[in-house]
Amino acid sequence: MTTPDEMKRYVRDVPDYPQKGIIFRDITPLLGDKNIFREVVELMSKAWTKDPPDLVAAIEARGFIPGAAIAVKLGAGFVPIRKTGKLPWMTVMESYDLEYGTDQLEVHSDAVQPGQKVLIVDDVLATGGTASAAVRLMRKLGADVVGVQVLIELGYLDGRQRLSDVKLVSEITY
Ligand code: AMP
Repeated sequence: MTTPDEMKRYVRDVPDYPQKGIIFRDITPLLGDKNIFREVVELMSKAWTKDPPDLVAAIEARGFIPGAAIAVKLGAGFVPIRKTGKLPWMTVMESYDLEYGTDQLEVHSDAVQPGQKVLIVDDVLATGGTASAAVRLMRKLGADVVGVQVLIELGYLDGRQRLSDVKLVSEITY
């Protein structure tokens, strides 16, 4: 079993990307290692196996990678949460702040039935703006949001406080 500190060796820190002052946590080395990637999917599924969600809703684009694998592992369906203008059908929208800039998230309006249990997945929790917008978006559709699962939590940005009304699980903290 790889410890969180050992896993950090597979996360590349890229200073000043995409803008000055940001340390970008690049997970591509971790995804490219067959053993670590499998372990990450298992770790990110662990908290939710006892009472699995009906759906995993993951956030474009890097959230899709662990999100789809977690959905298969938990026996859940998958819902893509996307940036504006990417989805072909009727959508609902929610605005949010990024660590760098602002944006909107969209989901198909028929992606979730009221009362369905939804787990939200992303790669990195930074300021928490994206994940909290995803929670609001899912609740707009009547979802029972059971939690938010991220791989990496940037503790120094305190995103966790924006998600105080939902169970939040992270595997690697900086
Ligand atoms: P935030 O809304 O500030 O919590 O930002 C989280 C979203 O932006 C996630 O979808 C991440 O993929 C991305 N993100 C923000 N900051 C970083 C960072 N330092 N390294 C990698 N991804 C980041």
